[in-house]
Amino acid sequence: MSPIVLGPSTIASQFWCEMAVDLRREYGEVKTPEKEIGSEIHKDRFLEVLEEIIVEIKTPGDKLHSNVHNMSVGLELYQKEGLTRELPILFKFDSALIMGIIDEIKEIKEVEGIGNKKKAHEKTQVVEMKTRKSLNPPSPQQIIRDKMQGMIYWYGLKSMIDKKTEMGDFWTAYGVDLVENDFNDLILSEQYMKSLEIKENAQKEYGTLLSIGSIIDKTLKEATKLPELSETIEIIYIHQKTLQEVHRERYKFDERFFTRGMRWALEYWSGKREPTSVGEANNWKCDFCSYYTVCPAIHKKWRQGD
Ligand code: SF4
Repeated sequence: MSPIVLGPSTIASQFWCEMAVDLRREYGEVKTPEKEIGSEIHKDRFLEVLEEIIVEIKTPGDKLHSNVHNMSVGLELYQKEGLTRELPILFKFDSALIMGIIDEIKEIKEVEGIGNKKKAHEKTQVVEMKTRKSLNPPSPQQIIRDKMQGMIYWYGLKSMIDKKTEMGDFWTAYGVDLVENDFNDLILSEQYMKSLEIKENAQKEYGTLLSIGSIIDKTLKEATKLPELSETIEIIYIHQKTLQEVHRERYKFDERFFTRGMRWALEYWSGKREPTSVGEANNWKCDFCSYYTVCPAIHKKWRQGD
């Protein structure tokens, strides 16, 4: 059986409407101007702290290397500046592999202890940024979905700090075959290495399974050096047109909510149950849904209305 590999935003979207997640698998992502503006704002924020290198991705190894490289550069920047953006993470929950990109992590000081034993500690905080077309604050349902997403990032980063992510998770998540490839086999494409300006005589050494393994190992070790995570997660909502902050949520990682939510979400991915639709109380969500005309729950309603 092939492993379940998922992204945090997909899982979080199940908390909005799981049927829409299912329909996206079937019909593909529907691009909207709102989503495109959102991606541009995220990219601009990334470019404020790091430089973008355009690479040509040809093989699973290229994809793996580019993500580990971004992870390593992000962790290095965090060590220097106490802040980084668009940090990739990879971790396991039960048997599923989750891969995502954290919008921002920043170093904060958190006061702990009581009375004269109070002391400020350096902590790492997970920050998620959401962009909005409207100046209104998000609805409670949107906040629940986004809080789940923030908690997935939190849990993922904690897994990496606590050494729970292993090198094998990378090979599996990116589909790099360890049986077919020998340690000294090249798993990076020539085009990819050229775009990274790796000199031809160095390519043989740089692009092997063994070399990529050492980069993964080094990056995993770097992740364990991050300051302890703050239990508080932050979500900032920004208006797309004015970039003005419209809302901010600060909340604590909730182990019970997270574990139950993840198990519920993964039941769908492991085929244990059919996707659920929004139900009567939340059917206002359907008015904003890109899959309205193809949704089985809506078709059922139409039939009942006949
Ligand atoms: S139309 Fe409604 S129930 Fe169907 S996918 Fe969209 S939000 Fe979900």
